Amino acid sequence: MGSLGPLPGGFQTDIIFSLQECLFCRIVRHEIPAQIVHEDEQALVFKDITPQAPTHLLVVPKKHLGSLSASTDGDAPLLGHLQRLACRVAEDAKLSSYRLVTNNGKGAGQSVDHLHYHLLGGRPMQWPPG
Ligand code: 5GP
Ligand code: ZN
Repeated sequence: MGSLGPLPGGFQTDIIFSLQECLFCRIVRHEIPAQIVHEDEQALVFKDITPQAPTHLLVVPKKHLGSLSASTDGDAPLLGHLQRLACRVAEDAKLSSYRLVTNNGKGAGQSVDHLHYHLLGGRPMQWPPG
């Protein structure tokens, strides 16, 4: 979706579109149902709708960031929070081994343009990933 350019007041139409229509922003706002396993001020963790492992959770910041590469140095505390949260959720799920991964960009397999980490566990993992 292209930007219509700046609006009065300095709002960008593409940012407004993202916040209204982004799938994960809508899940964060509870407009679309999800099987939520954790929620706090900064993040939501919910089950992936197409699980690729016995445990497949998505660790999602409430702040809209299009991908990891859209983050800035100022987001470092948030990114740290997401990793520690993933670790705690994995412990709660009794996972001794797990994979935490983000697909950054279409070429890496990203299909939802809102930063998220996949927490996968409960089966042996292959390396390198496809
Ligand atoms: P990506 O392909 O961007 O790395 O990961 C997006 C993930 O979101 C996919 O694993 C996909 O199954 C999941 N997903 C897509 N739509 C929904 C949805 O509406 N609800 C939930 N819970 N997961 C979704
Ligand atoms: Zn979003």
